[in-house]
Amino acid sequence: MVNYYIKTNRSFTVLRKFGWIFTMLVALGGLWEPKLGLAVIFIMAGLTLTAFFNGRFWCGNICPHGSLFDTLIHPISRNAKIPGFLKSKAMVIGFFLFFMYNFTNRIFAAAQAWGTASFPDRLGMVFARTYLMVLIAGGLLALLTNARTWCQFCPMGTLEKISYKAGKMFKANNETDHRLTIEAKEKCHQCGKCARVCPFQLEPYTNFSDSNQFDDINCIRCGTCVENCPAGILCFQNERNALETQRSTDLEGYRDRQKITARIEEVNELQKDIKEFVFSFISPKILPYKSGQFVLLKLKNPEDTFRAYSIASYDHSGKSMRVIVKKVDKGFGTEQIFNDYKAGQEVELEGPMGDELVLKNHSKHLFIGNGIGMTPFIGLSEEVLAIGSGIDDVKFVHGQRTEEDFLYHEFFKEKERMDERFHYLPVASRPKLTETPKGYVMDRIKEYDLRDYQVYICGSSKMIKDTVALLLEKDVPMSQIFYESEEKIKEIDQIKKEKQSA
Ligand SMILES: Cc1cc2nc3c(=O)[nH]c(=O)nc-3n(C[C@H](O)[C@H](O)[C@H](O)COP(=O)(O)OP(=O)(O)OC[C@H]3O[C@@H](n4cnc5c(N)ncnc54)[C@H](O)[C@@H]3O)c2cc1C
Ligand code: SF4
Ligand code: SF4
Repeated sequence: MVNYYIKTNRSFTVLRKFGWIFTMLVALGGLWEPKLGLAVIFIMAGLTLTAFFNGRFWCGNICPHGSLFDTLIHPISRNAKIPGFLKSKAMVIGFFLFFMYNFTNRIFAAAQAWGTASFPDRLGMVFARTYLMVLIAGGLLALLTNARTWCQFCPMGTLEKISYKAGKMFKANNETDHRLTIEAKEKCHQCGKCARVCPFQLEPYTNFSDSNQFDDINCIRCGTCVENCPAGILCFQNERNALETQRSTDLEGYRDRQKITARIEEVNELQKDIKEFVFSFISPKILPYKSGQFVLLKLKNPEDTFRAYSIASYDHSGKSMRVIVKKVDKGFGTEQIFNDYKAGQEVELEGPMGDELVLKNHSKHLFIGNGIGMTPFIGLSEEVLAIGSGIDDVKFVHGQRTEEDFLYHEFFKEKERMDERFHYLPVASRPKLTETPKGYVMDRIKEYDLRDYQVYICGSSKMIKDTVALLLEKDVPMSQIFYESEEKIKEIDQIKKEKQSA
């Protein structure tokens, strides 16, 4: 059985990467030098103060124990589901009261030494021992269940929640309360990745408020979901900015998104790990879509979770659609799709969605696809050549590893034979035949002057990054480059933003 939860990097900043050194220093060093424990007073003050303004931000970004759990233990943790009772109100409140009772008792005992030389040592020892106890108990829980299991009922987390609620009550944190925000719910793929990577196993994608914010008080604002969302639509904003984003987001390509019931008409095994699914629409019967868009296919488990697939067909009657799915190693969704989805079955889809790879009004087009990222160019090639006059040149650079990996190879060759405007440029990184050009997609575009082309790229993020860099070198403006990837590519998003604001 494939694990629902995914292990991803959570240590994005220096504090998160190395904060655990402080934990070790205080918890273990405190056994020899108890005064080290006094540093914990600043930790408690810091987390209470930051929580007043910005919820559990401390837990996700500064907490030295959090750093230890995420950086050292997460990679070897079982990463299992956090037991429900450890998250329950009874556990959280009960443990808080138990901890506070013991903690204050020990502080009072240390206070007996007030005014003597041993007071700093005795007080420091209380904090250092507490730190050591969290290291041992939290560490064991992290190893055996989930890296952040302790944090579900950590008394310091509860203290933060109390402080945050006070900030809310006094309306003191309206501007500083940067909650997880979704740019537009319409753009969400419902893939659940935000939930699958969340250290706290929260479910943002099913719980965004009317102002597009995730109001769960337990969100530690760690940004792991922001980093991993394939749609790149998550960020942290205060409510005022979230509402502004909601108002100003461009929904081009997403306005026609709707629920679709379809029948699987055909399942064709294109390669050992690649299947083509042909759907006919039941409701609505006709679905206008554009090549270059994608559609969401509903999984059977968990409820209301989907996977995005590029539309690999061009059917202007809007009665059917084709997608091509590659089975992913340890893939939670493709495991189900490959095992359970058979011809004749009814499935639920949502879409069509996306605007990036939709054909722009222009006479010269360059398509670039590698791996399974070649699929949108099947429909796009058909659509662009069906336009007739007004199209001067269309090139498709198709990169794969070997000749056997070329999907729809004969289809593209035939297009080239039938239409002189179409140029098919396959390239293999490890060809078996001498006549196949060897190299990567960049090698096939080097020789052309592409300044007047609209360029559409789909495939691995590395290929997209390298290709965009080459295109920019070749003086193709960023405004003529469009791409889609399974993950957001921050470097290119940044270049796009800079060009747009210039
Ligand atoms: C706009 C768009 C269009 C797309 N079009 C297509 C398309 O046409 N065809 C296609 O095949 N795909 C396409 N995809 C990708 C598709 O949506 C799915 O992401 C893909 O099918 C894998 O889904 P999965 O649930 O099987 O994989 P997941 O379970 O989501 O796994 C994703 C990755 O995480 C890794 N992983 C999973 N679990 C763990 C774990 N416990 N520990 C460590 N690593 C783990 C997997 O090895 C894999 O590399 C598209 C994606 C987008 C965003
Ligand atoms: S919802 Fe996102 S930001 Fe909040 S804790 Fe989970 S991964 Fe971190
Ligand atoms: S697209 Fe982003 S916000 Fe939507 S479910 Fe997937 S990861 Fe979550």
